[in-house]
Amino acid sequence: MSFAFAEPSPSPAAMPPVETSLVERVRAIAQTDLAPVVEAIDHGALYPASILRQLGAAGAFSSHVPAGPQVDLNPAIDAMSEVAAVCGASGFMTWCQSTLVWYLANTENEKLRAAMLERAASADLLGGTGLSNPMKSFFGIEKLKLKGKRVDGGYIVRGALPWVSNIGPHHTFGTIFECADGEKVMIVADCSDPKIELAPCDPFLAMDGTGTYAVHFKDTFVADDLVLAHAALPFVKKIRAGFILLQMGMGVGLIRDCIAMMQQTRTSLGHVNKYLVMQQPEDFAGVLAKLDAQVRELAADPFNTTDAYWREVVQLRLEAGEASVAAAHAAMLHAGARGYLKSHRAQRRLRESYFVAIVTPATKQLRKMLADMAA
Ligand SMILES: Cc1cc2nc3c(=O)[nH]c(=O)nc-3n(C[C@H](O)[C@H](O)[C@H](O)COP(=O)(O)OP(=O)(O)OC[C@H]3O[C@@H](n4cnc5c(N)ncnc54)[C@H](O)[C@@H]3O)c2cc1C
Repeated sequence: MSFAFAEPSPSPAAMPPVETSLVERVRAIAQTDLAPVVEAIDHGALYPASILRQLGAAGAFSSHVPAGPQVDLNPAIDAMSEVAAVCGASGFMTWCQSTLVWYLANTENEKLRAAMLERAASADLLGGTGLSNPMKSFFGIEKLKLKGKRVDGGYIVRGALPWVSNIGPHHTFGTIFECADGEKVMIVADCSDPKIELAPCDPFLAMDGTGTYAVHFKDTFVADDLVLAHAALPFVKKIRAGFILLQMGMGVGLIRDCIAMMQQTRTSLGHVNKYLVMQQPEDFAGVLAKLDAQVRELAADPFNTTDAYWREVVQLRLEAGEASVAAAHAAMLHAGARGYLKSHRAQRRLRESYFVAIVTPATKQLRKMLADMAA
């Protein structure tokens, strides 16, 4: 018998620093720091500000800041999917923060960029987006809820938004109001302004630890320094594909975990779970691979202005919502009685999956958008 003698390992101080990728860094945070507090977040007992700051320090919110005329959103989506694979609520907050950064990165208001972009990209400044109502209004579903009036040096804004997530007393979020002349203006709202009131929402079925509030603008003065775009519509046209494509990280991560759950139950229940026709992990792995390939292509080109590209983005987002619900439903059937326990993640993933399908643009809105495009 011969023995191989290993070289003595170098002391940690002598070891060269190990380069880790964004995805590896985010996965480590998700699995080490986030996993133990997922239930507290799900029950609404914890808003994970410190984990969001860790994700910011790891670069989760900065890879999609364009350095030139093009940018690839895939690294941001991949990072988000690592978070969503562990916790849907945190995946959503990662999207909220990434979307705030996306607005700041694309504004032509240099003063605002200088004041907030770096702070938001590092998660020193936390926040989100109140664009559900505007996005619905642009597609003829409801009227704009915020009204504004031009005054010296800014606008006075009045009205209320029923839900804005990833906010708190010192947070910010992007939103849109309408002036009497019909002009729409996109701003960053500063929640520390005493004339912006945050009212806690009633408990949700899921996504409860997401720092979600109803927001009341009480004749709030919003200075020009906080204006993302005085003409919101062209700005929205620029950022809308990114807004939607970034959401793919929530769906992809959730589906990945549902496939893992189905595989985990195979050892003990495979002999009967195999009768769940078209609901096997391999079926969903196929769905995921198709979604993933489309995300890779579309997310590499978020400033594409063609109608064909926009239609593909909307279609992909629709499929992601439907596949999330289908995968979580299948994972529940595979898990059986154990998945029905409140301590099992199958039921949490099912509740979270509906959010992928109802957060703006919701399934019904996406179907309306596709129908309108066809007409
Ligand atoms: C947990 C959670 C977090 C959310 N976070 C955000 C966010 O960060 N930013 C954002 O812009 N949107 C947020 N939303 C809203 C979300 O994106 C969707 O707009 C919402 O889920 C409904 O979309 P829908 O298209 O199905 O509209 P529908 O439910 O068909 O209609 C929505 C409209 O119905 C009315 N309405 C229904 N229920 C209520 C209620 N309880 N209180 C007040 N009005 C009501 C309102 O007029 C609302 O605009 C959040 C929703 C939830 C449940």
